Amino acid sequence: MDMPTPCPDCGETVEYGEMLAHPNDFNTMVCDSCHDRITEENNQGSEKDNYGNTLSWKATPDYGLIEISLNGEELVGWCYEDEPESVFNEFFTVWKKAQEAAREQQ
Ligand SMILES: [Zn+2]
Repeated sequence: MDMPTPCPDCGETVEYGEMLAHPNDFNTMVCDSCHDRITEENNQGSEKDNYGNTLSWKATPDYGLIEISLNGEELVGWCYEDEPESVFNEFFTVWKKAQEAAREQQ
């Protein structure tokens, strides 16, 4: 190795020239596998509604596709242009409003 450098995330010693910018912090360099793992973590998430349902999302940036699941079962798949997380947040807001509206009619 020309410049063995410890990855700040996993501690693995890697070649400096092969490190990549941290997906969330461009001043930090991480190894290839941490880069992939952090990118994957950034492209998914989940929230619980007031009724105990879990809504989760997973984005595939290569296809610009976000899939939203309800309690682990796929609900919708949409195309997105900017931030998949903001698409999910909008969906979640509508979801909760619809639940409130349904409850008021009972
Ligand atoms: Zn690493």
